[in-house]
Amino acid sequence: MQWETVIGLEVHVQLATRSKIFSGASTAFGAEPNTQACAVDLGLPGVLPVLNEQAVAMAVQFGLAVHADIAEVSVFDRKNYFYPDLPKGYQTSQMYHPIVGPGDVEITLEDGSTKRIRIHHAHLEEDAGKSLHEDFHGMTGIDLNRAGTPLLEIVSEPDMRSAKEAAAYLKAIHSIVTYLGISDGNMAEGSMRCDVNVSVRPKGQEAFGTRAEIKNVNSFRFVERAIAFEVERQIELIEDGGTVVQETRLFDPDRDETRSMRTKEEANDYRYFPCPDLLPVVLDQAYLDHLRGQLPELPADKRERFQNELGLSAYDANVISASRDMAEFFEAVHSECGDAKQAANWVQGELSGALNRENLSIANSPISARQLGELISRVLDDTINGKAAKEVFQALWNGQGESADEVIDAKGLKQVTDTGAIEAMIDQVIADSPAQVAQYCDSEPEKRGKMIGYFVGQVMKASRGTANPQQVNGLLKEKLDALL
Ligand code: ADP
Ligand code: MG
Repeated sequence: MQWETVIGLEVHVQLATRSKIFSGASTAFGAEPNTQACAVDLGLPGVLPVLNEQAVAMAVQFGLAVHADIAEVSVFDRKNYFYPDLPKGYQTSQMYHPIVGPGDVEITLEDGSTKRIRIHHAHLEEDAGKSLHEDFHGMTGIDLNRAGTPLLEIVSEPDMRSAKEAAAYLKAIHSIVTYLGISDGNMAEGSMRCDVNVSVRPKGQEAFGTRAEIKNVNSFRFVERAIAFEVERQIELIEDGGTVVQETRLFDPDRDETRSMRTKEEANDYRYFPCPDLLPVVLDQAYLDHLRGQLPELPADKRERFQNELGLSAYDANVISASRDMAEFFEAVHSECGDAKQAANWVQGELSGALNRENLSIANSPISARQLGELISRVLDDTINGKAAKEVFQALWNGQGESADEVIDAKGLKQVTDTGAIEAMIDQVIADSPAQVAQYCDSEPEKRGKMIGYFVGQVMKASRGTANPQQVNGLLKEKLDALL
């Protein structure tokens, strides 16, 4: 039997407001426990919530970015349940009238192909506090700093058909919210959290299978691993004659498996009702137009422009446009050197490699876009060869010089293109390597191409890396073949 996987994601994005969604308490990360929860966040008697306008604006901007209908009227409801990290006894959320209606997101897969994933809706809600299990023996600590932090929950349609598509979708959402600047998107700090709904069905069948909802999937990699495990579990279960039950499961990254937490509660268990303390949110066209006017160029538009106007491959355009910082760095490098392909290669290759090695973000790159652009220009105008370029890059990275030109001068890296000078070095190398020359002459013609590498290496060494490699190659071949 052939099986098909069906996936829908619920992504919680922490909005980058400075204060909570219904109070003035700070949302800053990393404060001492229980220093940033005020009376409103705790739901003490006699206090009233006041909606944070910035959170509304951010939700709307997201909606506009995913081509969604924005609700003229949205309403906050109370979702009632008891849990120690929820002192109010209810979470304020939008159940029946969410602020963002149906929309869609384009995802790009590794082979460069694209697919549209529909968004069912996105709603505003507040976060709960956090239970701390590690530090207290036999007890659980409660930190309420996170209580009341604004979240946008983005609910997709079950449109994904593989773990790769789910990861690509999550990356697309991450790009959009970070481009918009409505979230820092930091998954390690919990600014983006993801519940993954997974089911399987026989290939060709239209009706969906029963789904399991996996909680605690907090990195791109874990999304793929949790889905891979869950799909296999469900297929095995069905093939052994069992049935999948609708339940919430927890992903355990250490054991690479999902475990049952609870069977699915019904919405009516929560006794949702409109929050009597908050007015409905009413938005008019002028406000939406104002926010639309502030939208930056979005990742999908950048990707398309990089491909169509700058001639980047689908793959390069996708990688570079995924992060706004990287896209802007690339654009600055490109405007300096004028060669998009080279700019893309250097940004994705040498620069990204160095940043990864030192665990730096591109915003903190020790080498500026301008410096990198100038360096590329010096390769393009043949001032230096590729090998010297890497040396210049390293020097600029280490702060040994202000510009590529300065480093090239200081280190004497200017490429030698003077034929006479290169010929002199070649003659010397040939004179110094009688054994290799004999071997070259005795070789089959097809093998000589490979053997020439030895001589190129020697000449490059003699020139301290500054000879033009194409010239060295051509001249060497002429001179060696003359000895045959
Ligand atoms: P609930 O309101 O109970 O959480 P929803 O129907 O709103 O359930 O769906 C929640 C998420 O589950 C959505 O992202 C949706 O795409 C996804 N989903 C729904 N049915 C399935 C299914 N059969 N397989 C996989 N995902 C599903
Ligand atoms: Mg749900």
